[in-house]
Amino acid sequence: MTPLEYDRTRIWHPYASLSNPPPVLHAKRASGVEIELADGSRLVDAVSSWWCVAHGHNHPAIVEAIRRQSERLCHVMFGGFTHDPAVELAERLAAIAPSGLDRVFFADSGSISVEVAAKMAVQYQNALGRPGRNRLIALKGGYHGDTSLCMALSDPDGMHTLFSGIMTKHFFAEKPTVPTGAAWDPADAESLRRIVAEHRDEIAAMVCEPVFQAANAMNFYHPEYLREMRRLCDENDILLIFDEIAAGFHRTGPLWAHLRSGISPDVMTVGKALTGGHLTLAAALASAKVADTISGGKPSAFMHGPTYMANPLACAAACASLDLFAKGDYEAKALSIERRFRDGLAALRGLPNVRDVRVLGAAGVVEVGRLPAQSDVSRVIREHGVWLRPFCNFIYSMPPLVSDDATVDRIVAAIADLASCPPGPPPEEDGFHE
Ligand code: PLP
Repeated sequence: MTPLEYDRTRIWHPYASLSNPPPVLHAKRASGVEIELADGSRLVDAVSSWWCVAHGHNHPAIVEAIRRQSERLCHVMFGGFTHDPAVELAERLAAIAPSGLDRVFFADSGSISVEVAAKMAVQYQNALGRPGRNRLIALKGGYHGDTSLCMALSDPDGMHTLFSGIMTKHFFAEKPTVPTGAAWDPADAESLRRIVAEHRDEIAAMVCEPVFQAANAMNFYHPEYLREMRRLCDENDILLIFDEIAAGFHRTGPLWAHLRSGISPDVMTVGKALTGGHLTLAAALASAKVADTISGGKPSAFMHGPTYMANPLACAAACASLDLFAKGDYEAKALSIERRFRDGLAALRGLPNVRDVRVLGAAGVVEVGRLPAQSDVSRVIREHGVWLRPFCNFIYSMPPLVSDDATVDRIVAAIADLASCPPGPPPEEDGFHE
């Protein structure tokens, strides 16, 4: 059996069938914005490998930081030990986080950091003598990860409905619809206000992806919505959690997407681009109010502790990634990609299968009636040398933030080609899911 045959029959890929697996490409190496395949061909990674490769693949400074750390300490349990990369990273995250979020819990993936943030909220309310406040409000159209608590906080009509039987029921406000940059309409937050009014004594926290709902809706919404959340939280002793895992680290322009709103959350989760896409690491950053309240409760310990918590290699990679963010003007890079996407994708609005074109920062989205067939997707990838991974009704790109104009233009050309293809069969028949 060739390695690819073995892969096809034995190894699950994300959101894929083993009996009718979608095609997979054989990656051998990667550098900068490109992935090199086993046959020697190269693809521009227009998805930043699920939005984490902000500085490009195999960045020499990050690779070197991992190598140096690997000579000293690859791993040690964080229960009972600490180490320099964790302390340095915590200090540096606190320095760039919204003011006051300087208490750090390291997690091994984005999903786990969201679970941790939600558990912090429940433990916080419990410490205040409100054990009945153990549900959260989330937004329709949101996505927070694939573990069970995260599924339960993600769009209730989205990709996780199959598992609704094992999920705790949380409250969902309607998906925000007023776009970034449009005139704010307070009616957009009406369902949120109603849930708070009816259920405040059951609610520990609100959670959202600020400004940019990525994996479920590719929706850019008005920052005033976040201010409304903050106001409701303050008035009702509810914690506010911002999940910046996808939108953070300049994906929408500013370092954090919520900076547009001028308000801060009580807990913020970060991941993905934290290590520049070199190793898995995430964190939940909390305010002193949250941490002190939890510590004053019973138990005073915060009850979570993953095996690979604060892995030293991942922390060293993250410190090197933060160095790169600090040295380069990444906001300018994201805004330059935004301009290029806006100019290049606007022309697609008139195509028969195109419903909408949306751009914010280094994220360009073409919403279609139905995705083209998998065979067309594969052809476009091959002919343009651009890796795209459309899902639901979205052909999109979130390229490495270091992508130059020529790279962005190649991505635009590939998206334009794909958006011009006829709609394909329903996803189930195409063996094509996320
Ligand atoms: N939160 C958001 C906003 C995400 O986009 C994702 C992943 O796409 C997650 C959480 C989950 O992160 P991970 O896949 O690292 O568990």
